[in-house]
Amino acid sequence: MRKLSLDTYLRKKLENRQTQNRFRYRLSSSSACDAEMVVEGRNVVNFSSNDYLGLANHSEVVQALSEGGKKLGVGSGASHLISGHHEVHKALEQQIAILTGRPRALFFANGYMANMGTLGAMLSDEDLIFSDELNHASLIDGCRLSRAKCVRFEHANYLDLQEKLSSLKFRHSVVVTDGVFSMDGDTAPLKEISEICSKSGAWLMVDDAHGFGVLGRNGGGLVEMMGLDCEQVPILVGTFGKSVGTYGAFVAGSDALIESLIQFSRTYIYTTALPPALAHATSISLKIVEAEPWRRERLADNIKYFRSGALSEGLRLPQSDTPIQPILIGNDERVADLGSLLLDRGFLVGAIRPPTVPVGSGRLRVSISAKHSYEQLDALISVLCELTLND
Ligand SMILES: *Cc1c(COP(=O)(O)O)cnc(C)c1O
Repeated sequence: MRKLSLDTYLRKKLENRQTQNRFRYRLSSSSACDAEMVVEGRNVVNFSSNDYLGLANHSEVVQALSEGGKKLGVGSGASHLISGHHEVHKALEQQIAILTGRPRALFFANGYMANMGTLGAMLSDEDLIFSDELNHASLIDGCRLSRAKCVRFEHANYLDLQEKLSSLKFRHSVVVTDGVFSMDGDTAPLKEISEICSKSGAWLMVDDAHGFGVLGRNGGGLVEMMGLDCEQVPILVGTFGKSVGTYGAFVAGSDALIESLIQFSRTYIYTTALPPALAHATSISLKIVEAEPWRRERLADNIKYFRSGALSEGLRLPQSDTPIQPILIGNDERVADLGSLLLDRGFLVGAIRPPTVPVGSGRLRVSISAKHSYEQLDALISVLCELTLND
């Protein structure tokens, strides 16, 4: 058989994606991440970022980064185990451990690597991973890196999990779930899942990328809100690129867990340590997260305001008490069109299509921030009604 050239092969794949209406475009912004931004030269209200508390462009955080840079330079120069580990990395880890109520924490390059590297370090091909079917892609890739067999359970269905755990034999097993689900905004039934895990001897890992900073009295996330300790949720992952407004991630847990990750986690060991200045800025931002609960209150109020306004105007919103408010559309072409129509009207809203979400469940994903005003929320609701209610 004649072999296709690389470009012919790739062009075919690209055309296929285009005819499916799943082609993705990158919009470029020319301003800092904030409630109002300039995107592709247009002024827009940003309903598409994960900067839920408005910290990505906060003056004290920006100042911490620039002062950190002046004092400590930009690059860390090496991986953590060679010479890239800095006092400020260590201080940040202690701060995370205290905030999450765990004995120790480890600062990772990002959430993707934290998830991959944690599953990869703990399990091997004789083990099982039980994974919620709507878990983030990085957890699915973590299953692949670990070579453990992955069993999916129905979304947030702990009875299905229980049945699968009791019908399968395993040596070691990790049950893994998002805390707040990234495309739906609903939360995992962690109390039930944690009880099922302790009965069956499976270890529970929670990825709370979207709950950390936003939920819980001090911003410790879903586990803080539900009062789950290190025994109930032994492996906790959180990220800093979302509500904390910086970059990076952490795993928090026992001393044995963290020490094992330092020894065995490939995505921790074989990568350059994040810039110390960034760790410093993250530390300052985390202090604001803890010390200014009014940001969480303001956000919760905006979420309530958006939901009640949208529902009373006839928009259909699935249950979600978090900043992630999806509006299900279905048809992929329609989702993409709505995304650009909204942009034309001055609103940046995520148009999410498969394979990011299951086929047939394309959606607009509205992300609410503490920085949005009631006027901005009202304006979005009215445009959403105009564009979607005649479908
Ligand atoms: C965003 C996200 C990640 C990835 O985190 P990064 O720091 O952006 O790599 C992992 N898990 C979930 C649930 C996420 O939403």
